[in-house]
Amino acid sequence: IVTFNDVHKSFGDVKVLKGIDLDIRPAEKVAIIGPSGSGKTTIIRMLMTLEQPTSGDIIVDGTNLWKMDKKGKQVTANEKHLRAVRGDIGMVFQHFNLFPHMTILENCMTAPIHVKQESKSSAKNRSIEMLKKVGLGDKLDNYPSQLSGGQKQRVAMARALVMRPKVMLFDEVTSALDPELVGEVLEVIRDIAKDGEMALILVTHEMDFALDVADKVLFLDEGVIAEQGTASEVIEHSKNDRLQSFLHRFR
Ligand code: ATP
Repeated sequence: IVTFNDVHKSFGDVKVLKGIDLDIRPAEKVAIIGPSGSGKTTIIRMLMTLEQPTSGDIIVDGTNLWKMDKKGKQVTANEKHLRAVRGDIGMVFQHFNLFPHMTILENCMTAPIHVKQESKSSAKNRSIEMLKKVGLGDKLDNYPSQLSGGQKQRVAMARALVMRPKVMLFDEVTSALDPELVGEVLEVIRDIAKDGEMALILVTHEMDFALDVADKVLFLDEGVIAEQGTASEVIEHSKNDRLQSFLHRFR
């Protein structure tokens, strides 16, 4: 469902990604771990089409997001293309980015109505269903300011799920939360993972969680995938020194 072929990304002179190859199958659960600045968020942002690669191909559900022009420079595939791809990808960030002036039900209904042209009633039904799924069926008419951080993060997940994405991206979704709220959010992701139909890509520092949920773990270090394998191979049995010292900080 997601393929990266030799993807490079530089910001000015700084080479952030130095040849990333990735192949993520439908319904596969992949965790990306690695030190700060290794390029994890850049990978996620490129998948969301928020950043373009300096070179290489990124293919989502059969669509190459960027193409080369005659001078060998990456340019956007056409806008319609990109819009369709964005509709296939749901994203949950560290900060929840909810609309403060809308109830949580309205927060969830907006995208299906305006991006997917769904009818109001079907958007509403699906939003209620997803808010119930994340355990917020009794908060439909509350405003974001009336919720805890963990609850807001669960709204953000319901809002992404409403769009029926083929791939869900979670970028350090628990790192802005108070420790006592982390568990409830991870629980919802576990639940989403169990449903099985979507591919999940999780950037996380929660190693036990990655062990539990991920089919595959990638260790990103200085812009390359330095180690990959099953969660147990990478987190419990790797002999890579840099990975060992990275993991040491979290266990
Ligand atoms: P963290 O765990 O701290 O979030 P990360 O692995 O997600 O780190 P990225 O956010 O992908 O790392 O950043 C990788 C590098 O790219 C960093 O050195 C960062 O400063 C740089 N970088 C990211 N975005 C930009 C930008 N828009 N302009 C310039 N440099 C950038």
